[in-house]
Amino acid sequence: MQPFIRNHQYNLIKKQIELLQRTCATVADPKIVASVRSNIQCKIAEAFPDADAAAREMLNRGSELSTANECQQYLAALDTVRIPFEPGTEQQLKKLFPKIKKLKLPEIAAMNMRDLSYLGWTDIAANKQFIVYGLDDRLAGVEGRITPTNKKGACFACNRQTEVALFTAIAKSRPAHASPDYYKAFGQYMCIDSAVCNQNITDLTALEQFVRQIVK
Ligand SMILES: [Zn+2]
Repeated sequence: MQPFIRNHQYNLIKKQIELLQRTCATVADPKIVASVRSNIQCKIAEAFPDADAAAREMLNRGSELSTANECQQYLAALDTVRIPFEPGTEQQLKKLFPKIKKLKLPEIAAMNMRDLSYLGWTDIAANKQFIVYGLDDRLAGVEGRITPTNKKGACFACNRQTEVALFTAIAKSRPAHASPDYYKAFGQYMCIDSAVCNQNITDLTALEQFVRQIVK
């Protein structure tokens, strides 16, 4: 079977399967369990509008599980059909940030690309965060300044309560005849740890919109 599950979709399924497992372990009423199952089946199907028959069958099986063991085996099977993020070569990555002379890249070889919806890393010394995201089939790079909040808050990309920082980036495009000191900045509260963010993200809409604002 061809890989067809992207990281955010895998996160969504995992969340739903964990909910199902909790429900089966704690709820005795079979009607409630059945309604949770059908809800889960809908949520997973919604995340895969283009799935073919074989993929749909595999996805539907998720809502029929009960025990922790079954759930674990199911997630392990899904793991084999995940689509890895493609970060490009080191040179391609550097080209995304042409203004930065000595770009410190993360240790890509040590990362599992299947766990990523985007590549994110922080340069603490420079107070900067970098995001590389596949936008319209091309890699797009966003660099921004980070202002730590030193507390938990909702991340705009993954929507979880995590340790967030204010991430501010300057839009690349300028209106015609803009004055030399014109700039437009966009800020969002975002997970400081992009590995955590990538584990939690279940919908790419907010992140994609943000990246588009900066690079278009
Ligand atoms: Zn996040």
